[in-house]
Amino acid sequence: MSKTSILYQHGTLALLVPGLLDGTITMKEMLQHGDTGIGTGEGLDGELVILNGTPYQIDSHGSVNIVPDDFTMPFANIHFANYQKLFDVKDISQADLEKKVVSATSTNTFFSIEFSGTFTNIKTRAVKKSQKPYDTLAKTAECQSIFQRETVAGTMLSYYSPQLFDGAAVAGFHNHFLADDHTFGGHLLEFGSASGTVSIQQFDTLEQHLPVNNQEFSNFDFSGHDILGDIHKAES
Ligand SMILES: [Zn+2]
Repeated sequence: MSKTSILYQHGTLALLVPGLLDGTITMKEMLQHGDTGIGTGEGLDGELVILNGTPYQIDSHGSVNIVPDDFTMPFANIHFANYQKLFDVKDISQADLEKKVVSATSTNTFFSIEFSGTFTNIKTRAVKKSQKPYDTLAKTAECQSIFQRETVAGTMLSYYSPQLFDGAAVAGFHNHFLADDHTFGGHLLEFGSASGTVSIQQFDTLEQHLPVNNQEFSNFDFSGHDILGDIHKAES
């Protein structure tokens, strides 16, 4: 098994839904499992984009910071980059891009997309860090900032999760963005059109890591929560 075929996931988005937002892995530990990824900090402290082994955080003020080794996260995806070029695109809409990517691969496996180019009418968000006791994901995510750019050059980093794994992951695309000049980024909500190069990396293995030493997680009763319904509301 090649290490570039493994997607490493710490926590799950489902675990954030009722407000299990403790940071349960450090960035130093996370970077042992890859050099490319996305995630969020403790208490939903901004949006993370890891590129070439450098972990960037877009905070709720829109600032792009490099986070220290001891920065902790309740949720993150990471892998060792080995992208293969898929195609070049010109003025493609987000819906058409997703269609084109999906038709070029299988939707029953996890994969990552790296899209470097120029994006227009792009909208991102970053959540403001909340303190304990944590509220639900939906409540916490209400304290978010929305950022917009008419035109920006940068990288969209995406993970695709198959429908089969809805719950352990959120089925579909999860997109984060970082501008080349590091003045803009976040969890990507939408873009109007984009031109550039789209690359793909398919995974045959999902390594799911859980925060077994976290009391709140270990003792939490997930029955009686509409976890999937709430995820789809929060992440759309
Ligand atoms: Zn996100």
